[in-house]
This record gives sequence, C-alpha cells and structure tokens, in this order.
Amino acid sequence: MPEDIFKIVFEKSPGSILVKADIPLFTILAASDTYLKFTSSSREAIVGRGFFEVFPDDETVEHDETAARKIFTRVIETGEKIDVPTYKYDVYDPITGRREPHFWSCSNIPVMDTQGNIAYILNTVTDITGEVKAKETAIENENRLRMATEATGLATWELDMVNNSFIYTPRMAEIFGYSADAKPTLADLRSHINNDDMEQIVIPSHKQSLVTGEHAYEVKIQWADGSVHWIKTQGIIQHDQKKNPIRMIGTVLDITESKRDEIRKNDFIAMASHELKTPLTSLKAYIQLLSQKLKKSDDPFVSNALVRANNQVNKMASLIYGFLDLSRLEAGRLQVKLQIFDINKLVADMINEANLVNYNHKIVFKPMAYITVNADIDRIGQVISNFLGNAIKYSPNGSTITVTVKTVDGQAIVSVADKGIGIKPKDKDKVFQRFYRADSDHIKTISGFGIGLYLANEIIQRHKGKIWVESDGETGSTFYFSLPL
Ligand code: ADP
Repeated sequence: MPEDIFKIVFEKSPGSILVKADIPLFTILAASDTYLKFTSSSREAIVGRGFFEVFPDDETVEHDETAARKIFTRVIETGEKIDVPTYKYDVYDPITGRREPHFWSCSNIPVMDTQGNIAYILNTVTDITGEVKAKETAIENENRLRMATEATGLATWELDMVNNSFIYTPRMAEIFGYSADAKPTLADLRSHINNDDMEQIVIPSHKQSLVTGEHAYEVKIQWADGSVHWIKTQGIIQHDQKKNPIRMIGTVLDITESKRDEIRKNDFIAMASHELKTPLTSLKAYIQLLSQKLKKSDDPFVSNALVRANNQVNKMASLIYGFLDLSRLEAGRLQVKLQIFDINKLVADMINEANLVNYNHKIVFKPMAYITVNADIDRIGQVISNFLGNAIKYSPNGSTITVTVKTVDGQAIVSVADKGIGIKPKDKDKVFQRFYRADSDHIKTISGFGIGLYLANEIIQRHKGKIWVESDGETGSTFYFSLPL
C-alpha cells in the first residue's frame, strides 16, 4: 500500500527519473509524467531499459562535462549530489516532427540502499528553454542598442555613487585619446580637463545635478599628444527608494568639429565687427564736423538731416559694440572695472541719452533714494540702455515707460516697466539666452539680434547681482536688475 502511494507521488512529481546505479547501463526504474512529457516518451517505452539506450548522450559535443553519463558516474564515485545549472539537450517535438533545441537545468541525487551503498540516482530536470531564450534576446537587444549608440559616436558611462565604481563603453577611451582597449580610470579621464574648467564647469554642474537630477556640460579636454578637443556629456541621476542618489548614467560625445565651427564663427563676428567699427568711427567724426560747420545754416533740413544721420550712426555703433562684447565674452575677455558711483545719476544720464533718439515714448523716472554702488559704470550703463531700448522697441508709440531705483535688503534694484507686448511665461528665462528672440510674428517685424539681454545677464552675473523680468504676457513687462550694495 505505502509503496503504491510513493509510486503515485513520484509519478506526479516534476521532471524526475529514477535510474539504477548499474554502470554502464543505468536502468530506468521510474519516470514522472512531466519527465515523459518533456521527452515525448511513454512509460512502457522507457522503464526497464538502459538510460543511454533511450536518451543517448550527444556525441557531437566533445569533452562535455555536463553529459549525463559523466555526471551519473561522478555521483556514484563521489556519493555527492551534483547540480547542472544549464545544459542543452535537444528533444523530439511531435508538433514539428523534429528534434528541437532545448535547455535544461538538473540535479542528480545519490540514493542509498539499506547497506549504505549507492543503489539509485534520482535525476530531476527543469525545462529552462524559455528563460535561456529570453536572456539571449535581452543580450541581443543590448548588443543592438550598443551598436546603434556606437554608430552615433556616443560613449555611454555609469557612475555607481555608492561604491564609486565607474564603467563605460570602449568609445569613451577613444574620445579621450586612448586606444579603445585602454581602461583609463575616472581620475585619468578627469586629468584631461584643466583646473579652471574643473572648478568653473564640472564641479558646479555635478553639484547642481544633485539638486535637479540631470547634468549636462561642454568642456575642453587635452589629449596626451597636446591636442585640444571638446566633449559634451549629458546624464541623469537615479535614486533609491529613500530618494538618495545612487547612480549617474549618461553619454559623452566628441563635439570638437562643431565647437571649432563655433569658434571660427565667433572669430568671424569679432573680426567683422572690428573692421566695421573703424569706418563707422570716422563717419561719426565727419558728421560731427559737418554739424559744427553748418551750425549757423538757416536750412532746417540740413541740421535735421545731420541729427538723424548722427542718431543712425549711434544705433549702428551700439549694434556693432554688442557683437564685439559678445565675442569678448565668448573668449572670456569681458571684464568689469569697479568704481563707486551714484546709480540715480547714471539712470538719469541713460534716460537722457535714450531720449535723444526717442520721440514717441514718455520715460518717467522715479528715483527713491540716493544710492551709490560699486560697479562697472559703463557696463551697468549698457544694461540700463538695453532695458530702455527694448522698452521703446517693444511698446506702442505714445505709451509711458517707468523707471525706478530703490534699495531692498541690501540690494540696489533698478526696474524698467513698459506697456508693450509683454513676455510669455515660457520665454521669461529664455530671453536671457544668447540669440534668443521670443517667437511671434510681431517680434519678427522689430529689428534685433537677441544678444542685448544675454550680455546684460552676463554683466550682472559678474557683479554678483540678479536679473529678471515680470510680465503677465500681455500688458507690458518690467525688467529688473539688482546689485549688492
Ligand atoms: P533683441 O531685442 O535685439 O532681440 P534682447 O536680447 O535685448 O535682443 O532681447 C531678447 C528678446 O527678449 C527680444 O527679442 C524679445 O523677444 C524679448 N524682449 C526683450 N525686451 C522686451 C520687452 N520690453 N518687451 C517684450 N519683449 C521683450
């Protein structure tokens, strides 16, 4: 009776077969239903026959240490249980009518008789074909992704922030001037960035990325052969469940070519504006000489024309100076010379200057206190003049522009408010970027290059101040800058 129960339990157990330890026959004594299903065989056809007579080892695979005959023999020799995590053994598939590739995992347990001799081996197998195929597909997909990434010239990297390990694709080494099989460390790679860039670009970007979760910067690197290259790196930070940063992953791209293009373009702008400045200066001098000479002329047209010519020359000069400043800035040569001055007076002077060419707007100045600041008077004048010029450009004729100066929390704050077209929320930060102009049909009809506010922002940054704009997007805007007192 109990024997029958064991037989039923065995036959229902997953993928098991019991063989006798009668080397070299290994006679099959029992097989479970699942085992029979795996091997598309019937109990009558296999029980009582030698294991290798029914399931011959695959002779095409030489030196196969996972071959059943070797494993069975070792189990008997050692008396130990032996597991084989993965092996391939093709089985006949009644649906396709062919032997199909299959992957298995098995364990082989020695079973003793009452005298303690190994009398049987219990072999239990699991079909892991699905898992193995899924893994193969995953590896294939990963390889495909890697090939696509490498085709774009991108290197990918991963920084484990917990144990500080850094891994990357071979392209990374190439971007830094090593051979693809070299394995430079993170410190090696960083040694190609100069100290200034490290302090001004890399470290601040890393610090910021801990707050924003994203990081991106462009920086120049020097290869071992002395040549200079540019890279752009971008990445994101991954966090654990407690929101602690654990990993940074990203890409690096060699942008030397486009950077060289940009440098050439900047050089061109610098050169062109420098060349334009010279004839313009002499044009201005001649206009002034003529004005002097014709002062007493009673022809109102002549003096009027000269005033207008002078204004146009000034306008052109300020455009050209804008480009010159831009290239100075890009080359890191925009410096500020500090001096103490009365900001109210500077604002009043800039309003007077703006009024020389402004016939259509009323500019109201509301100084609030006598405030002196320690700043670069010409550069701050340039910022005020840009604010005023924009207020005039982007608001309707006849409208009022209001300028204020006040102190708040140890800061001098200058504001210029207009009743013009306003700035949409999406553009509020972007208008301070280089060449950015808000995208509207109206703006396209107003001349400009999108560099004035970019320069203003850079100038104010160099004074450790702030620059910003408030606008409801429709009824005008107010531009502000602050300077520490
Ligand atoms: P520019 O005026 O030459 O285009 P700026 O850098 O001075 O360059 O300004 C950048 C952009 O900001 C402008 O093109 C415009 O879209 C927007 N802007 C600046 N000032 C104003 C303003 N007062 N009202 C509305 N939009 C403005």
